[in-house]
Amino acid sequence: MTDFKSSLNEECGIFGVYNYTQAAELTLHGLHQLQHRGHDGAGIVTYSKKNLLNHRGVGLVSTVFNKGIEENLFGDIAIGHVRYATAGKSEIKNVQPFISQPKKQEAPFAYAHNGHIVNSDTLKTELRNKGIEFQTDSDSEILEHLIYEGKHELFEDNLKSALSRIKGAFVYVVLKERQLFIARDPNGFRPVSIARLKDSYIVSSETCTFDMIGATFIHELEPGELVKIDDSGIKKEFYTKNTNLSICSMEFIYFSRPESTIGGVNIYNARKRMGEYLSKQDSVNADIVIGVPDSGIPAAIGFSKESKIPFEQAIIKNKYVGRTFIQSSQELRESSVSSKFSVIKEVVRGKKIIIVDDSIVRGTTIKWLIYLLKHAGAKEVHVRIASPPFKYPCFFGIDIPSTDELIASKMNIEEVCSVIGADSLIYLNIENLIKSINLPKTTLTNNGLCIAYFTGNYPIDLCDCAINL
Ligand code: AMP
Repeated sequence: MTDFKSSLNEECGIFGVYNYTQAAELTLHGLHQLQHRGHDGAGIVTYSKKNLLNHRGVGLVSTVFNKGIEENLFGDIAIGHVRYATAGKSEIKNVQPFISQPKKQEAPFAYAHNGHIVNSDTLKTELRNKGIEFQTDSDSEILEHLIYEGKHELFEDNLKSALSRIKGAFVYVVLKERQLFIARDPNGFRPVSIARLKDSYIVSSETCTFDMIGATFIHELEPGELVKIDDSGIKKEFYTKNTNLSICSMEFIYFSRPESTIGGVNIYNARKRMGEYLSKQDSVNADIVIGVPDSGIPAAIGFSKESKIPFEQAIIKNKYVGRTFIQSSQELRESSVSSKFSVIKEVVRGKKIIIVDDSIVRGTTIKWLIYLLKHAGAKEVHVRIASPPFKYPCFFGIDIPSTDELIASKMNIEEVCSVIGADSLIYLNIENLIKSINLPKTTLTNNGLCIAYFTGNYPIDLCDCAINL
């Protein structure tokens, strides 16, 4: 059984470059822009003169590439990865892109993955029973062995049949000689897009990277799509017709950068609309609206716009404190949340405050902020959350802890309100979340979104996935 408290959960970001003289440099630039998608490891693989060259390491992109691009990372094709492991060892062997163990005299290939494979235990057992040894702890490695299992002559046909056997969330980039493949899972849980930069192609988990390097967006992969880029251009096809668009709503709520666009929807605008709809659900009278930096700010702006209550910046985030969310104990989480935020007393003293955040997971952040605000003299603190209550874990690559750590799965809204010390608490309702994101896929269930964290209805049948629900 997969135990999601101790297994490796990959969130990650992917970047790829085709036909650019200094492909590694450009990839490094892209990885810096995707750093928010993974802090635990980073790597780049290039292809040059029939060789795959790589540099990978544990830690932030700036740590792994502290000397910039190594002199030997030549080549005009590159793929890069930032890794986010919520648990498990941050060992170099788990840092992607991986390079396959060559078989049958074939040239090896490199690959990187964003997402989480839900039938990994079943597939790993099957492969191990055939004598296959895994080099890493990561579920991502399954693809390599499934490709080598393939009986087709062409690499891309073996890739297609391997992809068809994998269940769950994935974007894969695969670099095989002068061919770059990009695949999106049949639910399209995680985003991936392609852009042009003169004669080069750029692949990225998020479109924010394209603007920064002056590339022009050309295509977001559809669910079940496989794109091949080689010297003859770009070829798009579907490796499966059995698709069911369910883009992860957390990408819109919290995970992606505000400059990015997924499914034609800009993230900042979606977050602002979440705040506007949240305000429509509300009638409390307050002096100011404040947001929790960073991802709560656009929703707070939307809330302020709709309610006509002035927006103020009252909470300052120390950018140099690491991630609080993935600390191993509640004690550590609390102490790092306390050094992460401070409050401008002069803004909050004597005021009735509406504080907007994107989500409550364990309740650690909001509880501490309410304490800080009240300590600084706030008269009332009303909490407004720009997503519905998180009640169910995610199995598709977002680090949402197991049910017993999710405060909203153990308590009702009144109880949560009392535990965090708020004067009132309102969450955005599911209907308004869907309206706020506003994907133009109105004929699909939930407009093509995965909202399983709020409903417990997973878009994939998990029965045969050996998952401990
Ligand atoms: P908590 O303090 O456990 O209630 O977590 C809520 C805070 O963590 C919010 O301020 C969110 O912006 C942030 N958050 C929500 N989901 C995640 C996630 N998957 N990884 C890291 N931080 C998150």
